[in-house]
Amino acid sequence: MIKHHPKFELLQSFVEGELPASLAAGVAIHADMCSHCQKKIAQLTEQVAETSFESSFLHQFSVNDQDDIAALQALDIEQMIDGITEMEPAVPAKPPEVVSVTFKGNNYQLPRALANMPMASTMNLGKLARARVQLDEGEIHTSLLHIEPGGGVPHHTHNGFELTVLLAGSFSDEQGEYHPGDFIMLDGNHHHNPVSAQGCLCYTVVNDSLHFTQGINRLLNPIGSFIY
Ligand SMILES: [Zn+2]
Repeated sequence: MIKHHPKFELLQSFVEGELPASLAAGVAIHADMCSHCQKKIAQLTEQVAETSFESSFLHQFSVNDQDDIAALQALDIEQMIDGITEMEPAVPAKPPEVVSVTFKGNNYQLPRALANMPMASTMNLGKLARARVQLDEGEIHTSLLHIEPGGGVPHHTHNGFELTVLLAGSFSDEQGEYHPGDFIMLDGNHHHNPVSAQGCLCYTVVNDSLHFTQGINRLLNPIGSFIY
């Protein structure tokens, strides 16, 4: 059962279209698996639609600038209607392709939100494997991270934020065990050592390097740069 959900503010930014593509995809993946957040998003979307309708409705009565009035009068309504009726009928949207990825012989079906995103080839480091999602968002790096049974990430904290959406399998850290759909947003206030007994596949979004808090940080840097 899903226990970890996006914060209300994040859902709000999602609905208002203010999130970078990487985080928006994270919320969309979670909402696809979480009916609770799906409902909240539907409610927020309705509210946003109402507010923008109200403001555009009010705007109709607040045209008092002479230029605006002249512009409105100059509109050729008939021509606009002709233009609308001549428009091609909408082509029904194709159902999104089912895309799957394979890590170490395990095949995973990707969530719909990731179906059209360009994916780099897989890199391996011990029990970790990573495929970058190529969103080109500067400091924000997005990946699919696969952990083989018995693998994990050494104890660390975050110089920025780290979003993990668990897609398949399970892993655990000091806070407990996580299940598919869990949406885990961490920052510099959190220290953890995620390990996966059974193996798992995660969607990760990280905007700065990890800081390893046990062992010799510089020896662990390859793992850090692997995840970030
Ligand atoms: Zn949720």
